[in-house]
Amino acid sequence: MRLVVLPGDGIGPEISAATCEILQLLNERMSLGVSFETHEIGLARLRRENTTFPASVAEACRAADGIVLGPVSHATYPSRAAGGINVSGELRITLDLYANIRPSRTREGLPHWGRTPMDLVIVRENTEGFYADRNMYWGVGEFMPTPDLALAVRKISAQGSRRIAKSGFELAMSRRKKVTAVHKANVMKVSDALFLREVRDVAKKYPDVMYEEQLVDSMAALLVREASRFDVIITTNMFGDILSDEAAELSGSLGLAGSINTGEVHGMAQAQHGSAPDIAGQDRANPISLILSAAMLLNWLSRKHHKENFGLAAKAIEQAIDALLKDSGKRTCDLGGPLGTKAFTAALSNEISRHAR
Ligand code: NAD
Repeated sequence: MRLVVLPGDGIGPEISAATCEILQLLNERMSLGVSFETHEIGLARLRRENTTFPASVAEACRAADGIVLGPVSHATYPSRAAGGINVSGELRITLDLYANIRPSRTREGLPHWGRTPMDLVIVRENTEGFYADRNMYWGVGEFMPTPDLALAVRKISAQGSRRIAKSGFELAMSRRKKVTAVHKANVMKVSDALFLREVRDVAKKYPDVMYEEQLVDSMAALLVREASRFDVIITTNMFGDILSDEAAELSGSLGLAGSINTGEVHGMAQAQHGSAPDIAGQDRANPISLILSAAMLLNWLSRKHHKENFGLAAKAIEQAIDALLKDSGKRTCDLGGPLGTKAFTAALSNEISRHAR
């Protein structure tokens, strides 16, 4: 089983190193048989080779069984013509990673900022929507006909809506069997009507799942007021991006939320947050988001290849993180704790070692 690791920019190298340390530990303890291949991407690669994402690295990703991608500082990348390829968007499109699964849950003993506890998953369409770098075959989905007029294209397709709906309903069947479709069809009367048409049609095939719909603006408020009433939330690309950061922060911290991008063939673990340049290189990043994303990748590989020990390794990570988070002395700074990235990773290794065999 070959995993490609792309550390990325900002805090990416620090949290990727932490993630590799935990995966390596489980690899040894649970005989996973995983080999790791690390490739430099992002601003460091741009300085060396005039591109943030060389074709050889893209090929290595395609050939791998799974990818672990650290956050990238793509807001500061030069244009694509000058070598600034957004690695995250590029991999989502070229490997057709259409489903971005983003769970958020509160944990016993850890303060949360929403009014109720939560245990929900945002299922976000990942390859179309308002994302200008990925919604066109040729060219980009944002343009300026005159210096004072900017236009953006939002792509919603029946196939894209249908397959993300299926992913969400399948997931709901293994959880509390409730789906909420989030949209803005009162204003986007054409594109979100198409999205809802497809989700409603898929819903008919899952009579055991309770189905409801919610406007995105009121959803933002309900996540604060009563997140406990939601189970699986299916939505389009940008709404899912924004709501998942909100849910993660309300559950305790943006640094806690795992995230995986999957398609029919490929899977990629990726932290929910960005590259946090404000704390990069200071040993202050919380590595949990990327480590939990890697656990989601292990679970995905476990199901895909029928490898039970991969599922057990994922469980070992989740249980050890829950155990540490109960103790305020074992938390990172974003959670008000005293630990830096390295000390937290060492504590997590110890916790896993006590249980995993
Ligand atoms: P951000 O998520 O990087 O940071 C927002 C805030 O949360 C910052 O104060 C940061 O210090 C904090 N934070 C984020 N992750 C943390 C962690 N693990 N531990 C502790 N604190 C953490 O968002 P931003 O500042 O808006 O974006 C920075 C860069 O990241 C931009 O270039 C943006 O384009 C990029 N970005 C990348 C991805 C990705 O690679 N998937 C996602 C979002 C943003």
